[in-house]
Amino acid sequence: MKKVAKFGGSSLASAEQFKKVGEIIHADQDRKYIVPSAPGKRFADDTKVTDLLYACYHTAEDGEDIKLILEEIRDRYQEIIDGLELDLSLEQEFAVIGKNIREHAGADYAASRGEYLNGLVMAAYLGFTFIDAAEVIFFDESGEFDADKTHKILSARLAEEESAVIPGFYGAMPDGTIHTFSRGGSDITGSIVAKALHARLYENWTDVSGFLVADPHIIRNPQSITTITYRELRELSYMGATVLHEDAIFPVRQQGIPINIKNTNCPEDPGTMIVESTCHKPKYTITGIAGKKGFVAINIEKAMMNSEIGFGRKVLEAFERNGISFEHVPSGIDTFTVFVHQTEFEEKEQSVISDIHRLAKPDSIDLEADLALIAVVGRGMRGTRGTVGRIFSALAHARINVKMIDQGSSELNIIIGVANQDFEAAIRAIYDIFVLIEL
Ligand code: ASP
Repeated sequence: MKKVAKFGGSSLASAEQFKKVGEIIHADQDRKYIVPSAPGKRFADDTKVTDLLYACYHTAEDGEDIKLILEEIRDRYQEIIDGLELDLSLEQEFAVIGKNIREHAGADYAASRGEYLNGLVMAAYLGFTFIDAAEVIFFDESGEFDADKTHKILSARLAEEESAVIPGFYGAMPDGTIHTFSRGGSDITGSIVAKALHARLYENWTDVSGFLVADPHIIRNPQSITTITYRELRELSYMGATVLHEDAIFPVRQQGIPINIKNTNCPEDPGTMIVESTCHKPKYTITGIAGKKGFVAINIEKAMMNSEIGFGRKVLEAFERNGISFEHVPSGIDTFTVFVHQTEFEEKEQSVISDIHRLAKPDSIDLEADLALIAVVGRGMRGTRGTVGRIFSALAHARINVKMIDQGSSELNIIIGVANQDFEAAIRAIYDIFVLIEL
């Protein structure tokens, strides 16, 4: 019964946090494969070690001295080593890292050292084998994660070890240079390790007790989510992104391994289980609400559009040519609307508009900016009458105008477009009608 436990930066920010992590690992015999992040923030305006390392890289690239910043990083680790009373010296490692950064080993190399060093500390603390991620996690020439090569080499390597620490966030390119995932990428490493081990569970330890039904900055003390499916989480990706890296679900999902989001500071909390499928009924009709501001709707009109084969493709090609991804495309009989991120679209808007004209020859194009999209998601909505009606009436009572609504045929999600300024009020109204009333 193998479990993979990944610990985030705040769980490993100090010796005190390391001790909590040690207790968690020792409390369960099955926790034998550990994936650490780099030390994160110890207090609100502290700096993460990863950010210090990026700063170190930039300082070196600017031709300035990195001595001071490197010392600051070394002190962070030394404080942990001293606090844990470990017989470990990183002097040699820091000499090599300093030399490589000065010799322009690259931003990814610099950033990855946070996890690398924390992995060494963690392995020494637990008495587990240290496996350098550069030897088992691989990227291809274009920097894409190489799942097949990794799976083969990593599973063979892990089969030799009864327990191991594998640092998160980085791996190696075909030529051996270090490459990282995007920020927060240790979550992905944890998922890859769980897949390679055919683990029973992937535990992702962080500083919150799982996902909440809605953003606590908008709803005071929102309810927590005990079980969520991978698909629901994808639909709520606006919300999950800060707790779990979006790409972390893919490796484990292929093998139906559940992820349990747990809180290092409250290990007895059950946290959130992310599963492939479940017959556990959600507490409420909806599982979660999430959203984002800052979208533009591009409304394209053309008489008889519905009978023109290929119209949608031509419109979307204009976006593709300009390198803009779209979020939603609700359509009517003579209208076709494309929702895109405002920041991505703004600088290219005139080029997109002229491409649409050239490719699709519409009658008119009209833009509406400053829109927010809200996703109301839940497996409990499937086959439940009146969900949309309840949302509409809640929004009408809150005097909010709905600009767009889009329900996927899976009945798993409803997307609502409102003005940016109505965003918070809309989320509150929807939360109240589903969660407060059903409590
Ligand atoms: N340390 C890296 C970051 O700050 C990766 C991670 O924590 O997952 O983004």
